[in-house]
Amino acid sequence: MKSFDKAAISALASDFQGLLILPEDPTYNAARQIWNGHIQRRPRLIARCSGVADVIAAVRFGREHGLNPSVRGGGHAVAGHAICDDGLVIDLSMMTGSRVDPLARTIQLDGGCLNAHLDRESQAFGLAATGGIVSHTGIAGLTLGGGIGHLMRKFGLTIDALRSCDVVTAEGDFLVANERENSDLYWGLRGGGGNFGIVTNFTFELQALGPSILAGMIAWPMADAPRVLRFLREFMADAPDEVGIMANLRLAPPLPVIPAALHGKPIVALIATYAGQIDEGEAILQPIREIATPVVDAIAPRPYVTHQKMFDAAMPHGRHYYWKSHKLGPLTDEVIDIVVEHCEQITSPLSTVPIFSFGGAVARVSDEATAFPYRDAAHDINIVAAWHPEDVGGAERHIDWTRKFFDALKPHSRGVYVNFTSDDAADRVRAAYSEQQWRRLTALKAKYDPTNYFRMNANIAPHDRT
Ligand SMILES: Cc1cc2nc3c(=O)[nH]c(=O)nc-3n(C[C@H](O)[C@H](O)[C@H](O)COP(=O)(O)OP(=O)(O)OC[C@H]3O[C@@H](n4cnc5c(N)ncnc54)[C@H](O)[C@@H]3O)c2cc1C
Repeated sequence: MKSFDKAAISALASDFQGLLILPEDPTYNAARQIWNGHIQRRPRLIARCSGVADVIAAVRFGREHGLNPSVRGGGHAVAGHAICDDGLVIDLSMMTGSRVDPLARTIQLDGGCLNAHLDRESQAFGLAATGGIVSHTGIAGLTLGGGIGHLMRKFGLTIDALRSCDVVTAEGDFLVANERENSDLYWGLRGGGGNFGIVTNFTFELQALGPSILAGMIAWPMADAPRVLRFLREFMADAPDEVGIMANLRLAPPLPVIPAALHGKPIVALIATYAGQIDEGEAILQPIREIATPVVDAIAPRPYVTHQKMFDAAMPHGRHYYWKSHKLGPLTDEVIDIVVEHCEQITSPLSTVPIFSFGGAVARVSDEATAFPYRDAAHDINIVAAWHPEDVGGAERHIDWTRKFFDALKPHSRGVYVNFTSDDAADRVRAAYSEQQWRRLTALKAKYDPTNYFRMNANIAPHDRT
């Protein structure tokens, strides 16, 4: 790697409008932290950009000085792709501008926006698009990998609402990608991750929703999990698009809504969302209440933005995380047995196992239309181990539990959602795409980033280099 000296930094700083953070700066240690506290890396320079011109300057500086970049949006990639050792972090976290056009029903979000920006700004106009289920997740990484969430069966994946992107390429050039301009790039940005350039602005189409919807959690002791998961399989097979249901298995946290006798004991929960009229939703979701006697029933009308924050406190920044994931077909009895057996052996009170349900609008888009594959998968399971930073000795045990659980489900895997890959991203990125998509994505990489400059991601190498 070529070195850069104080003069080079001064030259960059002369018209850089954001912040240039070096290891000797007092803010450096805070600036290199990402959501997953388990990842600790030390970049040589963090370029916290204030706008497109800064992003272009940072890309060109990195190339000129032989610095490998990582690109930071919300900093949530569990593998820590937002931060690098010894390289340049192109950090978009200050770029959180947004604008709703209520007549056109669109929202523009800058590349550092979080889910919270999408939800708050669009809900100010009674509008929404599918975002993730935690409000502090970055829109950039979430969207570029696909974007799954409570509304996806009604409104599609986040990428299905994506209409246009502003992109800074690996050469530091500016492009627009949409159906009319650079449409090949537009295709690849919808599922191909951060491989093709830095997206500085996203335009999404919005739909009417809320502001209040019927939504919330209902939970049972783990003994009821086989019945609950079989119900989920049957119910979601022909549920209306308005219904989103996510299962979540974990040890019961000490929350006032959960009976004290259950705290620390394994439970199964369903998080239901009805993206339609509240009274209609009450009738449609009623069978959930009849599966077995719940220990918590918090399904009730609530503001959509509140629902979108329900997991924020359970997934805070700075904890240590490790996860592995599979897309799955229908939840067969065998899959359910594996899930229940491993959730009964969960090693940390902070670990969770969300199971998302696809179908509806997700499945009606063809695999060719975007770079998001296996849209006909019925479910996605994410095995999320989490522990306190002080639990140093526990890390190995929690990681081992995740790996064993993941291995047991391998025969049932239908690939992986690229945004849920972890330290296995390098091996599993191929499994995240179909054969045809992979050919198209590697060709696209060869066109837009032939030197694989953007490689700190779920990496798709250019085809002439594989
Ligand atoms: C608590 C939590 C909850 C989650 N919930 C969901 C969910 O409900 N639905 C879902 O689909 N996913 C979910 N995810 C997964 C999430 O989509 C991915 O972790 C995603 O990568 C996060 O994006 P980010 O911008 O925050 O991450 P970052 O770590 O900043 O970036 C992720 C990747 O995108 C690249 N990137 C970032 N910004 C840009 C940009 N502007 N242009 C180009 N490339 C960029 C990075 O280089 C990196 O490779 C969740 C993750 C966490 C940690």
